[in-house]
Amino acid sequence: MTATPSPLRRLLNPHKIAVGVDWAVLIGFFLSGLLHPDIRMYYDSVWRLFVCITVPLMAFSYVIYRVSERYGRRIQGERRKAPPLSEEAFGTIRAAFVVSCMAAWPVGMYRAGLPTGLVWTLDDMGLTWWMVVLEMYLGIIAIDALTYWKHRLLHTKAFYPFHKHHHTFRDPTPFSGFAVGPVETFLTFWPLLLTCFPPAKHFIPLYMTAIVGFVFLNLYLHCGVTFTWLEKLLPRIGLNSSAWHNVHHSDVVSNFGEVSFIWDKLCKTTREAAQAKKMARAEA
Ligand SMILES: [Zn+2]
Repeated sequence: MTATPSPLRRLLNPHKIAVGVDWAVLIGFFLSGLLHPDIRMYYDSVWRLFVCITVPLMAFSYVIYRVSERYGRRIQGERRKAPPLSEEAFGTIRAAFVVSCMAAWPVGMYRAGLPTGLVWTLDDMGLTWWMVVLEMYLGIIAIDALTYWKHRLLHTKAFYPFHKHHHTFRDPTPFSGFAVGPVETFLTFWPLLLTCFPPAKHFIPLYMTAIVGFVFLNLYLHCGVTFTWLEKLLPRIGLNSSAWHNVHHSDVVSNFGEVSFIWDKLCKTTREAAQAKKMARAEA
């Protein structure tokens, strides 16, 4: 007979606490607009951003899902049951809402005519083309390091409850690409808030290209299938592939890189390294 947990124990369940904190963070970000220098512009920006992010994201998720299920090579074998598309889409739409509330800070300031770090021309950047491209590459390297260590943090005992939602999708589809809780959304996208500060100049055409590129990469990483040409191309330019990231969903304990596999190789957190460690422990 199993003992029933006491009400206090149930209340102190880390996963329940994480769910509460997650919703508090979402509400907190929405209410943060009351502190914005132009409140009306902030909330006007929130809904515009939410529509501009969610509609294309869901549309591309749907198209990539249909194409991948039809033409791709399944990584985890034939699906035994239908994937939980509505739960996946809910998680992604909730994350899009949190991102909209965050991005509405610099966007609302920009639209209100206030100084921000959002820059449209190279003259305003004070840089040449090659310097801007170099800056973008350095930015990608920084984001890769940031997302890898954030992901390692989310796999610690204290933070895993905030990441668990994403791992309920063991055999993911593109709809789960951004299905992460509000705390994880903040930990991933907080650099957006830097653009509120004029010295943190960001060249919008390249910055947006990098974000859109990251979104498409992430949709492919979660499509559950491989396309031979992409599996060959992506590792050659230092990026993760669908087969690589799918291992993180099936095994959970390896392949933490969200942009590239470099940190996994450096820190020996690849599937091979995890298996070698497991064997060494078994022999010991
Ligand atoms: Zn994970």
